[in-house]
Amino acid sequence: MSPLNRRDLLRSAGCLLASGLHADLRILPGSSAYEWIRGARALIAEGFNPPFYLSFDYQPQKAVRIAQALHADALRYPAAAYYAFFPTRSGYPVHPELRGDPMRETVDLCRAAGLKNIAYVPLNHPFMDVASHDPRYLGWCKRFADGRPMITEHYGFARYYEGCLNSPLREVIRAMVQEVAANYPFDVIYFDGPYQGMQHAKDYCHCEYCKAAYQRKFGKPVPDQRKELPLEDEIQYYNWMANDVVIAFLAEIREMIRRTRDVPVLFNDTSLLSKREWRSHGIPVVDGFMFEAAETPEEKLFNLELGRSTGKVTWTYLSSHTEYNREHLKDDHVRGWFSYPVESEELLLDGATAIAAGAGMVYWGLSRFFYQREGPLSYESGRYVREVFDFERKNCDLLIRLESQPQAGILVGSQTIDWYQGRQFAGRAYPNYFHGAYLLLKSHSYEAQPFLDWQMSPERLARYPMIFAANAACLSDAQCSMLADYVRNGGKLLATHLTSIADEYGRVRSRFGLEQVFGASFLDAEPVEIPDLYLKLLSGEEIPQDPQIMRFRVTGGSVLAETIDRGHRTKLGPAVVQRKVGQGEVIYIGSGLEAVYEETRMEPLQTFFGSLFAPWLEAKRSYEVEFRPGLMPQFMASKDTLILHLLADTGDKVQHLRARQHFLPLTDVKVRIRIPAGRALRSATLLRAGRALSGVVRDGWFTAVVPRVWIHEAVRLDLG
Ligand SMILES: [Zn+2]
Repeated sequence: MSPLNRRDLLRSAGCLLASGLHADLRILPGSSAYEWIRGARALIAEGFNPPFYLSFDYQPQKAVRIAQALHADALRYPAAAYYAFFPTRSGYPVHPELRGDPMRETVDLCRAAGLKNIAYVPLNHPFMDVASHDPRYLGWCKRFADGRPMITEHYGFARYYEGCLNSPLREVIRAMVQEVAANYPFDVIYFDGPYQGMQHAKDYCHCEYCKAAYQRKFGKPVPDQRKELPLEDEIQYYNWMANDVVIAFLAEIREMIRRTRDVPVLFNDTSLLSKREWRSHGIPVVDGFMFEAAETPEEKLFNLELGRSTGKVTWTYLSSHTEYNREHLKDDHVRGWFSYPVESEELLLDGATAIAAGAGMVYWGLSRFFYQREGPLSYESGRYVREVFDFERKNCDLLIRLESQPQAGILVGSQTIDWYQGRQFAGRAYPNYFHGAYLLLKSHSYEAQPFLDWQMSPERLARYPMIFAANAACLSDAQCSMLADYVRNGGKLLATHLTSIADEYGRVRSRFGLEQVFGASFLDAEPVEIPDLYLKLLSGEEIPQDPQIMRFRVTGGSVLAETIDRGHRTKLGPAVVQRKVGQGEVIYIGSGLEAVYEETRMEPLQTFFGSLFAPWLEAKRSYEVEFRPGLMPQFMASKDTLILHLLADTGDKVQHLRARQHFLPLTDVKVRIRIPAGRALRSATLLRAGRALSGVVRDGWFTAVVPRVWIHEAVRLDLG
């Protein structure tokens, strides 16, 4: 039992040390790193590009000086990338220019400087250069059914064999991790992977080891993808590779570290919502995971809140190694510059989004300043990174205690991404449904939290007064039952379009899995697409309808809107149906209106959804912010403090993602925050401006006008 209370843990985690208090407190082994990871502000030394590769120019002292100048509190060192960057005996190829042990020097210098250390270890990230003459590589690589080795590009420098985790390479990687964990005092071990290929991640491996293992387990050969495969074969291979190979490897490595030196383990799960990405299901095995970059602040906030729903720590990049737009390049693996400070004010918004979500931050990276003549603060990028880190450092004690307060859970259909194959299904745009749901709820000041379908449980559902099932096509029988019970017990369910039309592997049902709950029976499992459709509301008003609709008949409940086909002068039947089930209530919308909102931001759709949400959520809302395009609220709370973050994505980035960006302030933003019953308001402040915010308290609500939001402001209410 630890005699430490939470405050002591925070101190030991460095939050208070950083603010100059209690400098005599030692960082304690064990629990402190587990606490620290929640508010990390680390600098990444990336091993796949200069100053580590192709040439090895890295200098430990210079790296630590740059980390200090940026006010980072940790440095991430690449134990390996295409090469190992420490003298390993594991068999992993060592960089030919490596002299001495720069990993040891880096760790020692960091500890002397009061910085934490994170080890980056790639778990089967491609590294075997096809131009190498290393004879072992052809015994370690993934192979097609015809025996050819699988080859991938990565970063624009070379081409690499993809490694197979069933080959002897598995033991080489395991030995390397063991060396890192046993011989170097890292505070955290961070894994990239486990990978099983990169460009050919979805191609089945026919190496001798996989062939033998598959035959042993299933009594048949690895399925040959050159032929059309039965779905059952795909499901079998997928589950074998996910569970028996990839996640089993991650779990084995995690337990090995626990036995060697018990430090937190995080892994890169940027592709959490990518199709059939095995390692996503490794989340339960680790202490946390990383979403690297996102294309928009909304996407980033969504991802980080999705991360929070898993109960694990989430980290995110400040910036990205792909920050350069590179549209005109023929080969977009060639990223432009890894070693130049390319960014501008967008870094501030990136940082503010991470702060609002309560995520740990890692700046990518050291290489941007390593070759520059001047120190990092001579460049916009460096100044902005330091500003973000300073805000986190100053408020760390507060920020890491906050939890989000979702009124709605958004059911994210990762099973649909993996398996659904309907004829009218545009997989590439599928995220528009759950992102649209998120935006619609946020636009009405209802806090929303996305969560993963495969993590659904009765307890998880019970956290949310309302569930938005945004076109969650693939749901198992058990998941349908959970949702039905959730409603019967008083939950509110808004479900759209194909929700529950198929089981968890995309096998289409003859009726909705939730037919009894919806009170709707589809006429055909495939939706139809027709231009110029309208929703006719009960008021008689006609608003734009999704051009792709499900035809259905109502078996219970009342119709809130029907579909009008203006071009053909016909009615296409019910579009929205509502009914009570047990103690709860359900609305089924037979189209993807939330995706249309994501794609168009049309105001009548926002208003319509507002009219659906309000009877369910209005009475219990925590806050209200007047709607301004580009303004995104995020509400967080701890026992004694409420924080309403305001993120103002009001920049000039229009056509070219990853272009440099400048932002305009929003002025006079009206906000309301509910004071919890039985509590009194002690103080109201603006966290960025660092001054009091005057407002009025009436009927349990604090009302104020925030004079200016440039990129980020946060209203802080402390309660008595
Ligand atoms: Zn293999």
